[in-house]
Amino acid sequence: MAQVLLALAGNQNSGKTTLFNALTGSNQHVGNFPGVTVEKKVGIMKDYKDAALVDLPGIYSLSPYTSEEIVTRDFILQEHPDVIINIVDATNLERNLYLSLQLMELQVPMVIALNMMDEVKKSGNSIDVEGLSKRLGIAVVPISAAHKNGIGDLVRVVKQMVKHPSELPHCDFCKGEVHRAIHAIAHIIEDHAQDSPYPLRFAATKLVEGDALMRQALNLHEDDVHIIEEIVTSMERSLDTDREAALADMRYSYIEEVCRESVHKVNESYGQLRSERIDRLLTHKYAAIPIFIGIMVLIFYLTFSLFGAYLQEGMEQIITVFCEWLAQVMAQYAISPWLSSLILDGICVGVGSVLSFLPIIVILFFFLSLLEDSGYMARVAFVMDQLLRRIGLSGRSFVPMLIGFGCSVPAIMATRTLSSERDRELTILLTPFMSCSAKLPIYGMITAAFFPKHAALVLISVYLLGIVVAILSALLLKHTVFQGDSMPFVMELPAYRIPAFRSVLLHMWEKAKDFLHRAFTVIFVASILIWFLQSFDWQLHYVQDSAQSILASCGSALANLLAPLGFADWRIATALVSGISAKESVVSTLSVLIGGGEMELSAALATMLTPLSAYAFLSFTVLYMPCIAAFATTRKELGSWRGALFTAAYQTLSAYVVALAIYQIGSLWF
Ligand code: GDP
Ligand code: MG
Repeated sequence: MAQVLLALAGNQNSGKTTLFNALTGSNQHVGNFPGVTVEKKVGIMKDYKDAALVDLPGIYSLSPYTSEEIVTRDFILQEHPDVIINIVDATNLERNLYLSLQLMELQVPMVIALNMMDEVKKSGNSIDVEGLSKRLGIAVVPISAAHKNGIGDLVRVVKQMVKHPSELPHCDFCKGEVHRAIHAIAHIIEDHAQDSPYPLRFAATKLVEGDALMRQALNLHEDDVHIIEEIVTSMERSLDTDREAALADMRYSYIEEVCRESVHKVNESYGQLRSERIDRLLTHKYAAIPIFIGIMVLIFYLTFSLFGAYLQEGMEQIITVFCEWLAQVMAQYAISPWLSSLILDGICVGVGSVLSFLPIIVILFFFLSLLEDSGYMARVAFVMDQLLRRIGLSGRSFVPMLIGFGCSVPAIMATRTLSSERDRELTILLTPFMSCSAKLPIYGMITAAFFPKHAALVLISVYLLGIVVAILSALLLKHTVFQGDSMPFVMELPAYRIPAFRSVLLHMWEKAKDFLHRAFTVIFVASILIWFLQSFDWQLHYVQDSAQSILASCGSALANLLAPLGFADWRIATALVSGISAKESVVSTLSVLIGGGEMELSAALATMLTPLSAYAFLSFTVLYMPCIAAFATTRKELGSWRGALFTAAYQTLSAYVVALAIYQIGSLWF
């Protein structure tokens, strides 16, 4: 255990994770996108081994509007970090200091790490760091986390503060009516605050704001509550605003004063100026969405047609060579036929079929992290916000949905940034409709067999299908299960930045690592299981023809159910079921059942499906319930089995209905 506990707190997108990585030497994901960090992370300081640093979720203020804000506040008040490092985006000082003022009220020693100083200099502006520090009464260290400037100074200051912990931030920046209200209330609750983890001033301020959690936590008498409300009402009356606005006003006017004295601004920040120019095009009223679709089509084309196909072939050859070598070795040692079948027909084919998609996944994530790190994805979210609100979702829902294109598990976790339960539950239900990257091998397999010339087109249509079904579901559910209004949401657009090479590489590596991990755990086990079930019959006799196997008899029952959708083969039914363990498993299962490489797979698929039923099959795989990991996450986040089962049932039913419609209506023409 480290002896010293440090907390890193700051607004979203202020460079918190970048600083965390610089301070701890770890490799957390950095994204130019608000809301990326949800869970708190811990690391040991690189140049200060006694100290553990906790990266708290990005927050705007300490009022508990979203759960990530509560995480931060609870952590600071319950764990009592020795020092808070408050990272502040210097190009956006006013807004960032709003949080700083509230952190100071928590009465924990604090230092401000004034980040992005490189941007400030580049735009020709300057900040009087010493003046700022004097005005706020706490240490301020200018840094540039991305360029690793000033990190040493920051560590030195923090060490100093740990050694001499006497200096607490004083925070008497209130004035006039609010000042009077805060102090009057502080007087009333003094005893209660002492018995609670909350510093007096912080508690008083929260009561002025009308924070219900605080009222409960302090265990106040009814009389006291009554008096406090009286005080607040009289404050509201004389200021002619409501309680929250009064406090916000007070803080902002204080910040304005501080900034007027210490910020010398000649230019709009260079980054902001450039961003505004780019935004005029990319968030244009009519052009924005066509541009977004155009970019996605280009990315799919580059990934699947231009680079991916060759690299995938190369990967396949490597796997084939390896498997052939393994077969020879086993032949030499006269391994029993069932064991060599297990290894070659089960594990090698199953894991190999999934592994061959590694290059495609890595390339796709290369492009997506370029989009994310440059700040473009935040624009897309901004544009989508208006659309989302029309269908009854909060704009914030877009962040989890976007993450859902990678993997539903972190996406469902990211719904914690949503403030209303209703928005949250609805978003959790809809997120898996965003086609996750584990489904790419399925798309690759089907397009190679049926639509080799139109791969990009088919892919786009499949992704769009997921989105359209999500929209229709939102509209449907809004009027039935999830009635009510969504919370308004203001999203902040980060400045465009040239993506950092390291960050993009890191992103790709994370994705590859995750993919490999799944290939050698879930897919590995699923392949063995499938091989076993298709190699033996109910009497546990090794069968020559897998149509006699245990699996065939189970799969056939299910296949009858799927026949109206155009895929009645028991092997396809089985693959869909095993896809619940992990979506890549659809491909590995079919490969094990059919045997051989991609050529054999394509040929066999062509006998089971027509192009139309293949497309219905694709649609089904996009929409039906997500993998078991995502299901477990759903259960955890919703907090109930009922909700999770409803969600999975809804998803699978939509898949069935859509695939049925596509196949039946399509059959009229084709
Ligand atoms: P978080 O949301 O607060 O964790 O922020 P991140 O660490 O993910 O960083 C947000 C964006 O700011 C990323 O694109 C970083 O590369 C960028 N960034 C972080 N620190 C600096 C800095 O000192 N200078 C510049 N120019 N960019 C930075
Ligand atoms: Mg972060």
